[in-house]
This record gives sequence, C-alpha cells and structure tokens, in this order.
Amino acid sequence: MPRKQAQSHSSTAAVQATNDDAAASKLSCVNKGYMKDDYVHLFVRKPVRRSPIINRGYYARWAALRKFLLQFLKPEGGGDDEIHVKKQILSLGAGFDTTYFQLQEEGIAPDIYVELDFKEVTSKKAALIENLDQLRGKIGPEASISRERGEILSDHYKLLPVDLRDIHSLATVIALSQLDPSLPTFIIAECVLIYLDPDSTHAIVGWASRTFSTAVFFLYEQIHPDDAFGEQMIRNLESRGCPLLGIHATPTLEAKEKLFLDQGWQRAVAWDMLKIYSNFIDAQDRRRIERLELFDEFEEWYMMQEHYCVAFAINDALGVFQNFGFCDSQHVSNPSPELRRQSDSKVH
Ligand code: SAH
Repeated sequence: MPRKQAQSHSSTAAVQATNDDAAASKLSCVNKGYMKDDYVHLFVRKPVRRSPIINRGYYARWAALRKFLLQFLKPEGGGDDEIHVKKQILSLGAGFDTTYFQLQEEGIAPDIYVELDFKEVTSKKAALIENLDQLRGKIGPEASISRERGEILSDHYKLLPVDLRDIHSLATVIALSQLDPSLPTFIIAECVLIYLDPDSTHAIVGWASRTFSTAVFFLYEQIHPDDAFGEQMIRNLESRGCPLLGIHATPTLEAKEKLFLDQGWQRAVAWDMLKIYSNFIDAQDRRRIERLELFDEFEEWYMMQEHYCVAFAINDALGVFQNFGFCDSQHVSNPSPELRRQSDSKVH
C-alpha cells in the first residue's frame, strides 16, 4: 500500500491494540524468567508464548528503561549525606504498563507517578485497578477512581485520559495531577510517539521541554525504515492499521537526537538497541537471560535490535543530571560466544 494511502488508515483502535500486544509480550518474558513483574499477568486476557528473539527484545527494552529509571530515582548524595529530592514520572501512552506497581513494591516509587493514554485504555486500566486487590492496594486508600471518566487520582498515582495530540489539554492534565514543573521529572514515551504524525510529536517534545526545566525524556521506538527489514516492519504495522507515521521524520539516531535539540532540550543522545544490549544492559543479567532460551537466528536478532533505539534528552536547571546517561555502562569482561560473534561481524 502506498504510504500516503496507508496514513489515512491509521486507526485509533489498532494503535490502542498495540498496548495489548506489549502487555502479552512482557508476560511471555516474565513466564520464561527474563524478568520479574508480578502485575503484568493481571492485564493480559490471553497469555501467549513469544519466540525467543521477541522475548529477548522485550527483555532488552525493559532492562534499558529500568536502568535509566534506577539512575533517575537514586537518592542524591549517598551514605549519610543522602538527600531526599522529590521526583516525578510522567508516562505518555502508558497503556497497561506496570512500572508504577513494581516501583511501589520495591519501595522506590517517586512522589508522583502520572500515566496518560486514550480514555478507552485508561477506563479499562481504572476498572482493573479498582477490582483487583493486588493493584488497588498499591495506590492508597484515599484514591478516587472513576471508570466512566477513565481516571484515578490518589496522592502518589494518577491515571488520566487524554489525546496526546491535543497539546492544550496536556497543561490541564499537569494541573490536575499536581505535577510540579520545577521538580526532576522522568518522561517515558515507549512505542508511542512513532504512531503520531510528526507535527504532533514535535509539539509534545517542545511542550515537555518548555514545561519541565529539570527532566529526562526517555524515548524507545523504531528506526531505519529504508532497508529491507525496515520496509517489512513498516508493512506489518500498516497492515494492522497502525502505521508508523513518525518514522520517516526521524529515520536515524541522529534524527532522533535532532528532534529533541530542535525543540529546546539541552542534551540528547540516541543509541540503537544492539549497542545498548552489548554495552549498557547489566552484563551479568545478560549472561543469565542468554541461557534461558537458545536460538541460532543471530542475523535476525541483530537486525531487529538495529531497528529499535533509545533516545534520551535532558534539561538540567537544577544540575542533578551531570552523570546521567549511558555513561555507567558495564563492559563484558568475558564475552559469550554469541557476543564474540557479534563483535566479529559488526563494526560500530
Ligand atoms: N507505553 C506502553 C504502551 C505502548 S502501546 C508500553 O510500552 O507498554 C502504545 C500506547 O500509546 C497505547 O496504549 C495507545 O493507546 C497509546 N497512544 C497512542 N496514541 C495516543 C494518543 N494520541 N494519545 C494518547 N495515547 C496514545
């Protein structure tokens, strides 16, 4: 289908359905032991088993986000000098993501955690949270929950319906959720902005930069639409009714960085997932998960990982993010045969 024609077929329902897919894939990983998440199964009606490559890809996505979140949430100072600075997380297109519940369980949830999505999705999430004790117990007894409005407001957790393309309503959402724009804020956009038209993405990234003076913007999404693998990836999503409307505006790592810098962010860095998998994700954990499921299709694995990236951007008015980023990467001292093959065949 020609791209112009496909764009007009972007369906809200199909884009929302990518959330069910993400939750099912995360559950598939959890069931195989890649990561621990005691909540995601509550959001999946029909569990599925994904292939080892898909499981490993979702693990890498989860591990990268988690490592960034832990850097952000780490208390300032250290030892006896630890200072408690209030922190906030804002998740755009959060879907059924369970990060809040995991952080809460670990006792490291930020002061405010806000999740935004279409009302159809937030209503379903609100109903599940209201009905299930494991979830309900994590949001505080004071929470007010409205399935009809698709809304939850508690002291620390807020779930709100909004179309992210409607920039004016984002300001209302900030006020409703009592986010303080001057506090350190971590903004998550995991497989969301790529479904929007480029003008909307520019507007959201620019709005976030103007609003939050001390913030990290974390983006995880597809790149490289122009090779054979990229073209197939695009066709697959187009045929499901959720074309990657943003991918041609930011087709490379440099373009993802430029997206943020052009919209006023002070610093931006993008790495593809192949580099992140080898050089950022905890080496010991990587060795652990590589033993869970073996596969031979390394070329396919490399190609897939090269078509996803993390870009992060920083505003740092308070000067708290000097050491933030890919910098505390751990290098493999004893590469697995797989990684050795990878470094033999790939030059980065
Ligand atoms: N971030 C979650 C979900 C990804 S699926 C995760 O990684 O698991 C993409 C989500 O973005 C869906 O829940 C979809 O409903 C939401 N989304 C897409 N476009 C949106 C828009 N314009 N406004 C609000 N939410 C949107």
